[in-house]
Amino acid sequence: MRTIISIFILLSIAHFSFGQEDEYEYDYMFFENSLMPEYYFFSSAIYSDGSYIKNINGKLPVCEEGAFTPPNSLELKYTNGNGKWEASIAFERIRGHDFHKKSKYLSLWIFPENTNVRLYPKIALSIQKRQRRSGVIISDQRSKELSIDKYIGVIEKDGWRLVKIPLTDFGDFESLPNNLVFSNNDNHGEGRILIDQVELLPDVQPGIIQAPDSISAKAYELHVDLIWPHVKNQGIKYIKIYRSEDAKQFKPVGIQRPYFYRYTDFVGESNKTYYYKISYVDYHYNETSPSETTEASTRPFTDEELLNMVQEASFRYYWEGAEPHSGMARENIPGRMYMIATGASGFGIMALIVGAERGFISRAQAVLRMKKITVFLKNCDKFHGAFPHFIDGTTGKTIAYFGKYDNGGDLVETAFLFEGLLTAREYFNLENAKEKEIRKTINQLWEAVEWDWYNRDGKYLTWHWSKEYDWKINHQLIGWNETMIAYILAMASPTHPIDPSTYYKGWASQEKKAIKYREAWGKTRDGSHYTNGNYYHGIKLDVGVAKGGPLFFTHYSYMGMDPHKLTDRYTNYFDNNRNIALINYRYCKENPNARKRFGNPFWGLTASDGPWGYRALEPVKEKEDGTIAPTGALASFPYTPEQSMEALKNMYCKHGKYLWGEYGFRDAVNLEVNWQAKIFMGLNQAPVTVMIENYRSGLIWGLFMKNKEIINALNRLSGLK
Ligand code: CA
Repeated sequence: MRTIISIFILLSIAHFSFGQEDEYEYDYMFFENSLMPEYYFFSSAIYSDGSYIKNINGKLPVCEEGAFTPPNSLELKYTNGNGKWEASIAFERIRGHDFHKKSKYLSLWIFPENTNVRLYPKIALSIQKRQRRSGVIISDQRSKELSIDKYIGVIEKDGWRLVKIPLTDFGDFESLPNNLVFSNNDNHGEGRILIDQVELLPDVQPGIIQAPDSISAKAYELHVDLIWPHVKNQGIKYIKIYRSEDAKQFKPVGIQRPYFYRYTDFVGESNKTYYYKISYVDYHYNETSPSETTEASTRPFTDEELLNMVQEASFRYYWEGAEPHSGMARENIPGRMYMIATGASGFGIMALIVGAERGFISRAQAVLRMKKITVFLKNCDKFHGAFPHFIDGTTGKTIAYFGKYDNGGDLVETAFLFEGLLTAREYFNLENAKEKEIRKTINQLWEAVEWDWYNRDGKYLTWHWSKEYDWKINHQLIGWNETMIAYILAMASPTHPIDPSTYYKGWASQEKKAIKYREAWGKTRDGSHYTNGNYYHGIKLDVGVAKGGPLFFTHYSYMGMDPHKLTDRYTNYFDNNRNIALINYRYCKENPNARKRFGNPFWGLTASDGPWGYRALEPVKEKEDGTIAPTGALASFPYTPEQSMEALKNMYCKHGKYLWGEYGFRDAVNLEVNWQAKIFMGLNQAPVTVMIENYRSGLIWGLFMKNKEIINALNRLSGLK
């Protein structure tokens, strides 16, 4: 026995050469660019007595006219009088940016115009602690205030001057400061200073950087995508993008980080030719000479072309954006570079198949990627056959990203993964060695999942199990919500099935425990017995708590599983999902909280990143904060094709400037507070690609529903009626 184990370990090392690679370290950025125009969400500006600082809604104005890093900077326009003014920039904590380069300096660029040096503001760093939900500041530990003018060096670029302050000059900090404060000094007068590229920087020696050579451009209706070879040189801080309309006068329009090798320039105009070149910038802001020029012309797109465009861009998240060791999906981008999100990877596999069918990649490319994914899955951590929520791509080990107890199997993530794997088992159906191997590995993985282990009381499936902490998290899967697919797959398992009666005893349970659970999450008794029966906004809801919940409930389980084919004692799930989407649409249209620009055709309340972190929003007055996630309306395409198409066009044409990016629509936007997500999320991009495809051709539904085990499970379920 011992020998067998050692051989296995040796083999896995040989196959994988798993190393202990460190996570990617980001720059520690206070301000680089605001995605939103007008004012900067992560700032505040206050004043008293005769002092004043220009602000919009208590925030610093964004300046589009001048920038050190294009396209924008922040404006400090102030009067130093009696009293005080203060302008703060809060460090924007981006999901998954958990590791930063070790910093030595605070570095920022200022454009002082004609402001007298005597009137330059003072600067301090602070550690602010805020209440989690409300954002109210509980404590504020301030550093020494330093005068900016003492730190202005000789480096100047186009009127911008570098301010570089050793962190030690601010005094000691117990942790990294998360807030930066400008304030007036005692000299009275008026000033206007632009500030940009405010960050903590390490001490890096300048290296030799070659200028970029080849770039290519592809134009769409209102944007152009620029692509360049993957940047490997660690000394490159960012890529600077120049655009021209006449091939003579080029203006810098944006920058890109080297972990992308694509830049999306939303020009907002159709039938126009644009010329581009790029350069590289190092950590000392030295810029290389530019690349060759490339050009592309925008033109109007048909509805079909728009759908292709959105599907392909979202697909790219799982293709170009994949975790490099495994080929699987990251939790969010930018975010942890080497952390795999299991459920999102299952969704990504379905997006990969759409990509191969639509010609975004070749079938051969898809086969290679599937091979990489399945080999990785064979060798990574598993817990009674179930996969953990997060996996380290460099080692295949579990990452307890959501807390120490979450270090074992996650049945829901596993179910989402198998939704993709079982779809792939049908799609890769050729009788050649590669595709056979893929199917064989998927079968091995599928047969190894002990769904019955996670069904320990014969009623409910339990979400988590850990070797060290056993059933400590103790979260039962009780519907109706996004986790339905776990019950269907558990019933369908060829090796470790659960009894079909669990569907009614667990998932749709009428026990007190289940009723209480639904009441607690819905904050209402409506739907607490699984069935609902009320009308909302003129639409009847058969099944669902409150008004049916966030829209992702109607997406995650039904990307593979065709809801048309799922009818239980209470409803048909296509009809029920469509009704939930319509309720969501009508709620946004009625807009009871008077949210900015809600209503037709801006709608779609679901789970996403938000100004105050990740939240699941519902079409209930108390349960939405004005944040809209594009995936809400777009992944609802099969249910609400007209309303989803209206939303797509509105989001692209009217909000594309900030909402559209390298992997399609960014995760979410809140126009109420002028906040735009910087990230794309693994759980939210693929549903767009896959559900649009299900609307267009039924491809993924058709493939998943071909699985014999699924057909049998649904037959057994309907036998219970
Ligand atoms: Ca900037």
